[in-house]
Amino acid sequence: MAEENPPARIDSARLAGEAGKIPTVDPNLCIGCGLCVTTCPDVFELGDDSKSFVKDGSACTKCNCQEAIDNCPAHAISWAEKK
Ligand code: SF4
Repeated sequence: MAEENPPARIDSARLAGEAGKIPTVDPNLCIGCGLCVTTCPDVFELGDDSKSFVKDGSACTKCNCQEAIDNCPAHAISWAEKK
C-alpha cells in the first residue's frame, strides 16, 4: 500500500520561508473565495474589495501556505522574494 506523504508539502513551505520567500496574492486573479484565509488565517485576509491580501507573510504557524497556494482555485497565490 502506498503511503501519502503530506510532510513533503509542509517541508516545501518551510524551506520557502527559510529561503526568504513569502506568499503573495495577485489581486487581478483573486476571485475572493476566502479559501486561503480559512487555510492560513494569520497570513491572508480579505480586503474591502473582497480580494485576498497578505497581512503577514511570515506568520504562518502551521506552515500551510503551500496548501493555500496549491488549493487556490484562481492560481492567484505564489511565492515571492521577501523584501
Ligand atoms: Fe483569492 Fe485564491 Fe485566496 Fe480564493 S484562495 S481568496 S481566489 S487568493
